[in-house]
Amino acid sequence: QAIKQNVHSKSAGCTNDGKSFEIAANIASGDEAEKAFAMGADGIGLFRTEMLYMDRPSAPTEEELYQAFCTAVKFADGKPVIIRTMDIGGDKPAEFIKIPKEHNPFLGYRGVRICEEYNQLFQDQLKAILRATPLGKIKIMVPMVSSYEEVLWIKSEVEKAKTTLRDLGLTYSDSYQLGIMIEVPSIMFMIDACCEHLDFLSIGSNDLTQYLIAVDRDNHNVSKYYNCFSPAFIKALKFIADSVHKNGKWIGLCGEMGGMQKALPILTGLGLDEISMSCNAIARTKEELSKLDFNLCSALVDKLCNAKTAEEVEYLLEHEQTQIR
Ligand code: PEP
Ligand code: MG
Repeated sequence: QAIKQNVHSKSAGCTNDGKSFEIAANIASGDEAEKAFAMGADGIGLFRTEMLYMDRPSAPTEEELYQAFCTAVKFADGKPVIIRTMDIGGDKPAEFIKIPKEHNPFLGYRGVRICEEYNQLFQDQLKAILRATPLGKIKIMVPMVSSYEEVLWIKSEVEKAKTTLRDLGLTYSDSYQLGIMIEVPSIMFMIDACCEHLDFLSIGSNDLTQYLIAVDRDNHNVSKYYNCFSPAFIKALKFIADSVHKNGKWIGLCGEMGGMQKALPILTGLGLDEISMSCNAIARTKEELSKLDFNLCSALVDKLCNAKTAEEVEYLLEHEQTQIR
């Protein structure tokens, strides 16, 4: 498939009053980074590395992982690449990770929670990421974090991986950044404490919707409850963005909401530092963003936070379209 290069998408994302946003891409392999940057991505906001572990009988080696990360970083050519450590479990099984049958897999053994037991896999991944750090701007991001203790544990794991590399005489750069996903509601209330130890955070709107509203993201019987336009969810987003910025840290969003055209005035008004989405949505998002006014979008977000129903939120979004440009 030919990769179209859109002139507009080549410049950084910016509103009509000059507020810039990093419009980044979600990818699932090193090679997909080529498409992302050809389609105008300002960075990689989410490299879903678990895809490198699925549909195969054994785990990828550190070397395989390293090669995949090098590929992504090479295509990034100096732009930032957020590599998310393996988010296995829940809806993403891996043959060689034996998770006993669970009543509630999404509330169970997934993401960072399996990394203590499967520590070698986690360490291999951290070492592979660290080894790629001299090649570009790499950010390490850990999924499903629900407590401050976990943040401290993650930091100690990164230090452990660095010590191993040093002992082996392998190089890495300390220029990497460390962050977590905000997708479990409990971590929202620990942002101040966690920010002392982190460089950035990124909202996983798919899981945050699921966990905040207690609605299985894959259960069609309850799909009407799964709504990122509910006022409760928008208030949560506003609380997160403001809390992270109050601590002087960087906040992005990398769930499906990032690529929803209807959501852009909200994400703009929140003043996020980055919005990450599937490659296909990048050009359209930059085009649309260039028509929006940041301050007017911020005022709209305040209004949405006072709405009482998702219907009211959607009504306001539709009817204020012309007022926010
Ligand atoms: C999310 O939860 O929003 C997210 C980006 O992670 P995933 O969809 O891979 O769980
Ligand atoms: Mg998630």
